[in-house]
Amino acid sequence: MAREGMEAERVVSFESESESSDVMFVDSSISSTDGPEPPQNFNRDCIAYEVNVKHRHIEEICISCGSLEVDTLHPIFHGALCPPCKENFLHVFFLYDEDGYQSYCTICGGGRTLFICDVSSCSRCYCTECLDFLVRPGTACRVKAMNMWFCFLCLPMDRHGLLQRRVKWRACVKRLYDECGFVNIFKPLSASKRNPIRVLSLFSDISIEMKKLGFIGNTFGNGSITYVHDVSLITRKDVKELGDIDFVFGAIPDTRGYIAHPSDWYFYQYYRILSYVQPQANNPKCFFWMFVDNLVLDEEVKDAATFRFLETNPVTIYDVQHEGIFSEVHVWSNIPSLKSKYALPDWDLDLSTSFRRDFQTQSLPEMLKKFLAPLKEYFKCFPEFL
Ligand SMILES: [Zn+2]
Ligand SMILES: [Zn+2]
Ligand SMILES: [Zn+2]
Repeated sequence: MAREGMEAERVVSFESESESSDVMFVDSSISSTDGPEPPQNFNRDCIAYEVNVKHRHIEEICISCGSLEVDTLHPIFHGALCPPCKENFLHVFFLYDEDGYQSYCTICGGGRTLFICDVSSCSRCYCTECLDFLVRPGTACRVKAMNMWFCFLCLPMDRHGLLQRRVKWRACVKRLYDECGFVNIFKPLSASKRNPIRVLSLFSDISIEMKKLGFIGNTFGNGSITYVHDVSLITRKDVKELGDIDFVFGAIPDTRGYIAHPSDWYFYQYYRILSYVQPQANNPKCFFWMFVDNLVLDEEVKDAATFRFLETNPVTIYDVQHEGIFSEVHVWSNIPSLKSKYALPDWDLDLSTSFRRDFQTQSLPEMLKKFLAPLKEYFKCFPEFL
C-alpha cells in the first residue's frame, strides 16, 4: 500500500520558550509539504556508484543522504548515518500517524511517498527514494503495482540490492538510543515476542482508542483494559489482584465539568497506583506510563511531578486545527514518541495571538492516540481493529 505525503494528522514541534517542556502540536490542518525535510538527496544516487564501482564500504556512507561524513552505523540496515541523519532518525523512529503506521521512512527518516508493509504485525513505511537508490532503480514502481508487499524487515532474505538488514537490529536501535542519551527506550520486540497489553486506565477511559489502535481485541486474552474512575478506595492489594499491568494511563478528567477532587489529588493518586504497579528498576519488563494534566495542576505540583516523582519533563501537546489552538495538555510519559521534535510548519504559528476555541473539541484520549501507537513495538495487536 502506498500513501502520498503525510496523512491528515501530523505532529510538528519546536523548542519551547520554557526550558522545562517540549512542545508539540497535534495538527489536523497542516499541508502535506511540511514536516521534517528528508535528508539531503543531492548525492544519494552516487551510493551505488561508490559501493559498486569505487568499492567503498557501505558502512562508510550515510545511506539516508549519501554523505561520506558519517557519525554512526545505521541501526537497522548496513550502512551509516551522518550527524544530521542520526539526529533525525532518533526523532522519527517512534513516530506514528493516526492510521497506526509509522510517520516516516524506516531507512532515511523522511519521505514524501511512503510504501506501507502489508504484514499485519509490521507498521513500517519506506520511501520511493530509498527503494530506488538502495534496492535498485524502478523498485518503487514495482512495489506500487503489487497488491501485497512485505518489507525488508519482514521478508526472510536479509539482502535486497544494497540494502542489508542487520542481524540484531532491534538491539542496535536500543544501543543507538542509549549511546546518544536521547531518551531511554526498551528494546523493541519482534512480533513473536510481543504479548497482549494489559492496561490500567485511571480517571479517564482510553478503551476506545486502545481498541482502535488494535491493542485490545474482542476475544478474552486479546489485551485487556481496566478502567477505574475513582481510585479513592483502591488498595495495593486490589491492584495486585489485577495481575501484571504493562501500561498505566491517568488523565485528569475534562475540566469543564464537575471535578470531584482537587487537581493535585489526581496526580498523587495516579502516582500512588503507579508505585504499586511499577516494576523494580532492575526488572527488564517493558513497562509504560502516561499522566496527562489538562492544565489544572498548579506549578508546585507540576514541579514535584517533574523533579521528584516522575523524574521527566512534561511535553505540552496542542491540538491545532485551522491554525487555531483547540486544546492543550501537559503529558508526562516514558513512551518515546513524546520526546520527538520536528521542524516548525511553514505557516507562522504565533501562540500569543492564536485563537483558542472551546477546550476539548477533540477528546483527550483521541488527541493522544498517535503517541500511544509506538506501544506496537512492544505489544501484540489484533488486526481486525486496525
Ligand atoms: Zn545523512
Ligand atoms: Zn527513505
Ligand atoms: Zn514489514
